[in-house]
Amino acid sequence: MSDRYRCILLFGAPGAGKGTQGKILGHIPGFFHLACGDVFRSLDLTSPLGRKFMEYSSRGELVPDELTVEMWKQNMHAQTVLSLFKPAQDLLILDGIPRTTTQAKALEKHLEVLMVLHLVCPDEKEMMHRMRRRALKENRLDDADEKVIRRRFEVYHRETAPVLGFYPKSIVHEVPATGSPAMVLMKVLDMVAPLQDHHFRNPLNA
Ligand code: AMP
Repeated sequence: MSDRYRCILLFGAPGAGKGTQGKILGHIPGFFHLACGDVFRSLDLTSPLGRKFMEYSSRGELVPDELTVEMWKQNMHAQTVLSLFKPAQDLLILDGIPRTTTQAKALEKHLEVLMVLHLVCPDEKEMMHRMRRRALKENRLDDADEKVIRRRFEVYHRETAPVLGFYPKSIVHEVPATGSPAMVLMKVLDMVAPLQDHHFRNPLNA
């Protein structure tokens, strides 16, 4: 099934560090990082889709599945056409998608999921603290408001956490996401480097 993108899913609650780890991995040749939230934020916020995104994200809610999957598909296609992402060589690191089991099902025909890396931070207070810091640094309105942050956690527990059950247990791995980004990175690399090495030695279409 070589027409599916080989990928690793970065999974975890808001503030667990998916974006931080994803960005670092994205700088390593042979990985291509795509964060669904970043794609949404890069939209023209006065366009119909941009306005929809603002409407949902400002409340801490998820953008409806169909819109999200469609936008994701178009973005992946564009990245591939522009050769920013080269599926034959690059291992895709997806962050922030799928966030519902409906999305997971819709992505099944497009993805060969090699691993789900679950960044686990048992301390919700610590994650909220990280989000408030991020709100100031990145000017993110959805992480600045206490009520919206709480809503994001509720949505995570209700809609996103069940996505873990969609994938075989054998490919779901937990990584403690406490400590400095560099310490977490060491554990993340332990998990993902062998997969990248395998992809490197056995590229698609070879
Ligand atoms: P993030 O940057 O991943 O925290 O995402 C910020 C916001 O973008 C979320 O709160 C949602 O409103 C929206 N979003 C990002 N990814 C998805 C997704 N896979 N499904 C639905 N909404 C999403």
